[in-house]
Amino acid sequence: MITALDAIVRNDRYPLSPRIRTLRELSQAATGAAPAGTTAAAQGSTPRRPSAGTGGVTEMKPYHHGPPLTLGGAAAARVRLVVWCRDCQHQVEPDPAEMAERHDAETTVPDWRRRLVCGNCCSKQIDFVATAARR
Ligand SMILES: [Zn+2]
Repeated sequence: MITALDAIVRNDRYPLSPRIRTLRELSQAATGAAPAGTTAAAQGSTPRRPSAGTGGVTEMKPYHHGPPLTLGGAAAARVRLVVWCRDCQHQVEPDPAEMAERHDAETTVPDWRRRLVCGNCCSKQIDFVATAARR
């Protein structure tokens, strides 16, 4: 039973989902409190490292790399912004420093992108990538 739970937790692609949290709690409760029915099979399935609280799931956090990039941060880091219209493929590479001046250095790039309108067809379906500037 515990081995099965661990396998589910390990194989789940969404480790922070409530379902997995519940499974983890179940697994931990079963391992610690050893309710009736738990057998020696549980001993072979100890987690690779002891999990204290929610610390155990930290390494599996999906795609979060801190606060979003701001225009000021993009300018300081010399990030190259490529913005394009999904409707007409019109593409521009605005200068982050200029954008930080014109808007606000604290504006996050995703927020800024939401305000953009295609200069060619007035579409708001704007997409962007931020890459390291060419030297
Ligand atoms: Zn367009």
